[in-house]
Amino acid sequence: MALPARLLLVDDEESNRDLFGRRLLRLGYQVEMAENGYQALEMLHSRPYDLVLLDHMMPGINGLEVLRLIREKWSASVLPVIMVTAIGESANVVCTLRLGANDYVTKPVDFPIAMARIETQLQLAFADREVRRAHDFYQLALRASEEGLWDWDFVAGKLYYSGRWKCMLGLSDDEVSGSPEEWFGRIHPDDRARVSAQVQAHVEGHTTSLATEYRMRHKDGRYRWMENRGSASRDATGQVIRMAGYQSDITARKTIDPVTALPNRTWLDQELGAIAAEGRRAALLLLDLDFFDRIEESLPSGGAIGFVAAVAARLRDSLGAMPGGVTAVVVRSGEHQFGVLLRDASGPGEARQLADRLQAALRAPFLIGEEPVFVTACVGIAVSYGDEPGDHLLRGANEALRHAREPGAGRCEVFQNTMRQQDLAELRLENDLRHALERSEFVVYYQPKVDLASGRIVGFEALVRWNRPGYGLVQPNDFILTAERTGMIVPLGRYVLERACRDTAELRRSFPGVGVSVNVSGRQLAEPDLVDHVRECLDSAGLEPSALRLEITETFLVEDPEKAFGMLSRLRGMGVGLKLDDFGSGYSSLNYLQRFPFDTLKVDRSFVSHLPESHESAEIVRAVTGLARSLNMHMVAEGIETQAQAEWLRDLGCHYGQGYWFSPPVELARLRELLERWPPTPMMHPPTRPEIGDSSPSDHLPNGCPDLFDGEACCRAAKE
Ligand code: C2E
Ligand code: MG
Ligand code: MG
Repeated sequence: MALPARLLLVDDEESNRDLFGRRLLRLGYQVEMAENGYQALEMLHSRPYDLVLLDHMMPGINGLEVLRLIREKWSASVLPVIMVTAIGESANVVCTLRLGANDYVTKPVDFPIAMARIETQLQLAFADREVRRAHDFYQLALRASEEGLWDWDFVAGKLYYSGRWKCMLGLSDDEVSGSPEEWFGRIHPDDRARVSAQVQAHVEGHTTSLATEYRMRHKDGRYRWMENRGSASRDATGQVIRMAGYQSDITARKTIDPVTALPNRTWLDQELGAIAAEGRRAALLLLDLDFFDRIEESLPSGGAIGFVAAVAARLRDSLGAMPGGVTAVVVRSGEHQFGVLLRDASGPGEARQLADRLQAALRAPFLIGEEPVFVTACVGIAVSYGDEPGDHLLRGANEALRHAREPGAGRCEVFQNTMRQQDLAELRLENDLRHALERSEFVVYYQPKVDLASGRIVGFEALVRWNRPGYGLVQPNDFILTAERTGMIVPLGRYVLERACRDTAELRRSFPGVGVSVNVSGRQLAEPDLVDHVRECLDSAGLEPSALRLEITETFLVEDPEKAFGMLSRLRGMGVGLKLDDFGSGYSSLNYLQRFPFDTLKVDRSFVSHLPESHESAEIVRAVTGLARSLNMHMVAEGIETQAQAEWLRDLGCHYGQGYWFSPPVELARLRELLERWPPTPMMHPPTRPEIGDSSPSDHLPNGCPDLFDGEACCRAAKE
């Protein structure tokens, strides 16, 4: 005890007061005296005392009455009262105890006993005061704390929730009972089982404390993220008697992306859930940065983070005002993906306009360090009118995005239900494709390649077709991309190469000069054993390497230039020819022409088809021809459909041509016929088109090349 206890001694007899008072003073107590009840009450009201010694029999207001008045104001634990009664007044003793006296001593006072009782009562009072102080402090702390505290009495099965705990969920004091259900019933259904298991594990002693995160339903119907920490107290047998802890709202931490300060994917999921539950109209744009991997590689370490943050800022600044009460929020929904949620959007129109605006805003270069970085983005949009299933917006926008990305960069698509049907069709295609090889459904067609100056057929390009049951003869454009994506292109490409080598070796017995070109995809280039396989094909067919040329599209070189370079150099070293296909349709980097060991350049059909009328195409083809010449490369023009095109290209000095004007791709037997009877006689118009299946759009074309070339020479040459 820091200060001596202050006692009030109430007795009407002065001698008693003196005797008792002196004894107490000697023991170190502070003692004050009152000679009657009134004075005692007055003193009690004017300052605090730790204990009252109260004489029973007093004139005026007696001890019992004083006691009753004391207890009206102070409880027995706050102000202990010891009654001093005459011996033999046992009825009085009972009465005083009932009225709230803490104890009694009898007159004449046995001082050691009296002192012991005083001491005991004081200790009890001080202990009680400590408990009260701790309790008050706890209450104060509760009120001041940012955390919501909870205290679970396992014996009574009751849970105490602090005011802050309730406030976090938008609830007032009287809206929450002491039931555990108030807590667990509000946890998100997807989190509930996990949290219950974690609590159970702690109760059973498997974990040293409870630490968990979950979503909890706020009064407004939305879920907020909570972190919960707690621990249990146990009895001697290890049974939990109590568990207490705190809950804090971590919604901000969970839902804000630290790099861009935008709401993150968690936030978006939550919002989409709420929008679906409320049946609100909304639109979602998903915006994916094209070629992000390549951009990331080109930036110095850490640069990608700055770049993403800059893109985020630009998107946010470009939102602009939305019409008609629509609210827009930009979200970072993935590593290089952003979302824009449009609440209360009325249809796809606003979303489309916004997508245009955002795509345009990205077009200006980003300055990362000293370097300007250019980026484009594909956008997928989905709209909900309030009656779709919960995941409609996200799934729809994702599907639309996938469709936008398929053909290339910088595109935008709005989700339509037909997309789902397309996806199903794609799935079926994938399945059928997996079995097509073992069922021998692929057929290799050949399209002649003609020397434009002499008119001779000097070779042919192998082009695969698929005899798909129920679909007829399917063109490569309808399955090559899927074969690429699924990796099926590798065994398929091997098959085409084997077949082409065998057929060509066979044809060369009758037509010695001819060679074959085979298309090779990026996936095949990435196969480490491609070179070995090419060698095997040549060896087993007995074909010289110089009779084989591989056609490679530029885009494949961009993906992994180092690897492609190594592979192509080894092939070239073997004596196999290399042709850069579709030149001009992709990156058209002159760098590739110089760096990679190509010997032939094939100018893309898109330029040839506008010849000779289009001035621009003509200039491009002229430049490419000059380029090929200066790099000492052969040049092939593909997609020649008219005599005028063939003549124009020949006059320009382009070496070779391929196209429907000469012949569409045909089956082996038909190719043999063509080689034998080249050039076709007028009788053959128009049937250079194969009778079965090939659906190349050439029906309307004036087929063959009768006037342009010396037919006989051509045929002879091809046979030589
Ligand atoms: P590509 O290598 O550029 O082949 C030329 C395409 O143009 C062929 O389409 C051919 O039929 C078509 N074509 C030829 N002349 C004309 C013409 O005068 N006018 C028009 N409009 N088109 C003409 P096809 O056979 O449908 O093949 C499309 C693409 O599929 C090929 O483009 C090639 O990239 C790919 N491909 C075909 N077979 C294979 C293969 O075995 N392996 C790989 N990896 N890709 C293949
Ligand atoms: Mg080709
Ligand atoms: Mg091509």
